[in-house]
Amino acid sequence: MTEYHMIINGQKVVSDSTFPVINPANEKVLAECPRATTAHLDQAVAAARAAFPAWSARPENERAELVHAIGAAIEAHSAELSNLLTLEQGKPPNGFAGFGAGFEIGGALAWCHASADLDLPVDVIQDNDEARIEVHRKPLGVVGSITPWNYPLMIAIWHVMPALRSGNTVVLKPSEYTPLTTLRFAEIVNDLLPPGVFNVVTGDGSLGAAMTTHPDINKIVFTGSTATGKKIMQNASVNLKRLTLELGGNDAAIVLPDVDVAAIAPKIFATAMFNNGQTCAALKRLYVHEDIYDEMCEALANIARSVKTGDGSEDPDFGPVQNKQQFDKVCAIAEDARASGARFLTGGEPMPGPGYFFPVTIVADIDDSTRLVAEEPFGPILPVLKFTDVEDALRRANDSASGLGGSVWSSDLKRAAEIASRLECGTAWINSHAVIQPDTPFGGVKESGVGVEFGRYGLEEYTSIQTLYMSKG
Ligand code: NDP
Repeated sequence: MTEYHMIINGQKVVSDSTFPVINPANEKVLAECPRATTAHLDQAVAAARAAFPAWSARPENERAELVHAIGAAIEAHSAELSNLLTLEQGKPPNGFAGFGAGFEIGGALAWCHASADLDLPVDVIQDNDEARIEVHRKPLGVVGSITPWNYPLMIAIWHVMPALRSGNTVVLKPSEYTPLTTLRFAEIVNDLLPPGVFNVVTGDGSLGAAMTTHPDINKIVFTGSTATGKKIMQNASVNLKRLTLELGGNDAAIVLPDVDVAAIAPKIFATAMFNNGQTCAALKRLYVHEDIYDEMCEALANIARSVKTGDGSEDPDFGPVQNKQQFDKVCAIAEDARASGARFLTGGEPMPGPGYFFPVTIVADIDDSTRLVAEEPFGPILPVLKFTDVEDALRRANDSASGLGGSVWSSDLKRAAEIASRLECGTAWINSHAVIQPDTPFGGVKESGVGVEFGRYGLEEYTSIQTLYMSKG
């Protein structure tokens, strides 16, 4: 079994205690991972704190070059990292529509290089006989990054690269379910960075909680559940940590009757099911106009019947659900929908184990009050809901505590844009869903989060403003 190490102050560190990492396709132990103690966390934070002055003083172009170099190192190890992702996360190498481990590696590379190329120029507010006023962006200090298990590598890159690029140092804690790709990534890039600039500690949620109360961490960037996001916000008050919280979503899509159902059904299916539905901005509630409801249900069910779910290492369309807790949640949500009398067009029952396999499931004629509609299932199961009046569809779409994304599908772009502007969400798509890119801000409203990631807006969240007032009087 490969030995995995934490990275603290540029050193490979083990712990007296370990925890097992499970392959979700066969429930076997893949590796033992070090369980960090509070002392390890303190050492990592102290190393990051000590590295901060020199790192933040480094010329911008040097930090940009190093972030590019991290991208190049990931690329050089992409086959190994992709394989590890399949083993610990469950996703196939390619998978349905190419949204497998290779897609995650490609995303990690794209975001790495795009983050390297960002900058935060000085903003001159006034420059006249009276005064010159400049707005500068300063790094915050030590950033604590807490990542989830759905895209372990790509989300680590989303957090860490802008933090480093803008002059912060980092302590990262991956999910206990998927720490291996992150540990290997940290080992690969360790020689590129000065000791202490990027540290990784591993453990369960209690380690994450200890980060959020740590007095020497200045900001937490977190991707995960709304429930944990709320706890982090409470804990962060200890030293008024800055926060970027990218939390759960329950994205609605509204499909108007003027669409070409055959043309859009594959796109809708892909955006609901990619990564086995375990994506924050996946399409999770599909509201379809009554005139095309039956046709849409049939088109989606036909695609669902044609796909294969299995062990990711055999490159099926979809792998297992990532962990037992999530698998049990998906099973319970499906059971609740069945008990409510909803109509299952495909799937609905867990597949025989070992492994956390749940088939792609399309559910019709379902009430908005069922768990499948009201909660984020975060698995391969999609409710298809009927509407008659678009005002009613909008009301139902917005009747949610979540507000990550939403979409409107129509051949009339102007009308679709008008409707989309009334969706209560951070990103509204037209004739697509969950399309993100490194230069475009992404974040949630309501209980889907605080702040945004990506591009200049995302980079600014790793900084504070210093206003420089130069009197000329
Ligand atoms: P969590 O939000 O609990 O986990 C995300 C990260 O937070 C993990 O690293 C976790 O550690 C860590 N963590 C757990 N508790 C704390 C705490 N008190 N303080 C600080 N960090 C903590 O998600 P779950 O794994 O429980 O998933 C539950 C639901 O969350 C899913 O069903 C889905 O709805 C949503 N989710 C959303 C994601 C997104 O992309 N927005 C990603 C994953 C889940 P550890 O894993 O080691 O316990």
